[in-house]
Amino acid sequence: VTEEHKGSVVSYVGKEEAMPFVQINVLDHGYVRRVESYGSDERIIEAARMSTQKGFLGWGDGVRAGDEKLLKYLRDNKHDTPFEMAGLIVEVQAPIFVFREWHRHRTQSYNEMSARYASLPDLNYVPTIDRIEMGGGQITKQAGSVVDWPKEEYPHENAMRFRDALSMEYDECERVYQASLGSGIPKELARLILPVGRYSRMRAAANLRNWLAFLVLRQSPKAQWEIRQYANAVHEILSGEFPKTMALFDEGRA
Ligand SMILES: Cc1cc2nc3c(=O)[nH]c(=O)nc-3n(C[C@H](O)[C@H](O)[C@H](O)COP(=O)(O)OP(=O)(O)OC[C@H]3O[C@@H](n4cnc5c(N)ncnc54)[C@H](O)[C@@H]3O)c2cc1C
Repeated sequence: VTEEHKGSVVSYVGKEEAMPFVQINVLDHGYVRRVESYGSDERIIEAARMSTQKGFLGWGDGVRAGDEKLLKYLRDNKHDTPFEMAGLIVEVQAPIFVFREWHRHRTQSYNEMSARYASLPDLNYVPTIDRIEMGGGQITKQAGSVVDWPKEEYPHENAMRFRDALSMEYDECERVYQASLGSGIPKELARLILPVGRYSRMRAAANLRNWLAFLVLRQSPKAQWEIRQYANAVHEILSGEFPKTMALFDEGRA
């Protein structure tokens, strides 16, 4: 271990100690919480300059162009591997249907709470009336027939009825769940009654390149609104950790 290497380890520990608690609340009971990040905009530049061994030279000062230029070059030319030298671990509380979408990002790493070993908390997602009236790709008018239904024509009482029915079902599911657990049914079977609106909790880890790909897909207006709210929270945390990279990312999408 060289002196230089030891130095970088020390500065990493220092950074971690200085990290404030960051949690962004999402939906009615969810959140995205930063657990830990590694690397920095400077580390990305250092990694890119391994080829010339010149390291990080400094950011621009308004007069002189700095290493922002190299960062932009990397992004514009899809030299993506230096962005793998930084990353983020988050803890997420989200409805199970959001996790089903999230876990399709197979190259992230996950650990989720197990409903085999612990009973899931009685937290269920109830969308707001506004959210329901926002619609999705399509709104189901009646069984079997699917139509595009403009928000202004959508009957308000349908949204109210849906919310009421959902809340009643959640209550009934919780009642059966608790009764089953109380009567000795194994947790791994008692959970069969739980709906996909039930909240679960996981940690997700990925490098920055991977998170950026996640944001492209999940902040897109084509993604379901709920996972978009989680992606927005991840974006906000990443912007605090890697401001130069994220500014470029946003500029590229503007
Ligand atoms: C708006 C939207 C709608 C969607 N609808 C559906 C749907 O209806 N049904 C559905 O099943 N999924 C759906 N998905 C999920 C989608 O198909 C992807 O699984 C998800 O977006 C993860 O993307 P990814 O594969 O790039 O990510 P990751 O799995 O993290 O993979 C990252 C990259 O690694 C490479 N890679 C990973 N695994 C493989 C592999 N096995 N072979 C080759 N290359 C690999 C690819 O380059 C990939 O882009 C939807 C996604 C979005 C954003």
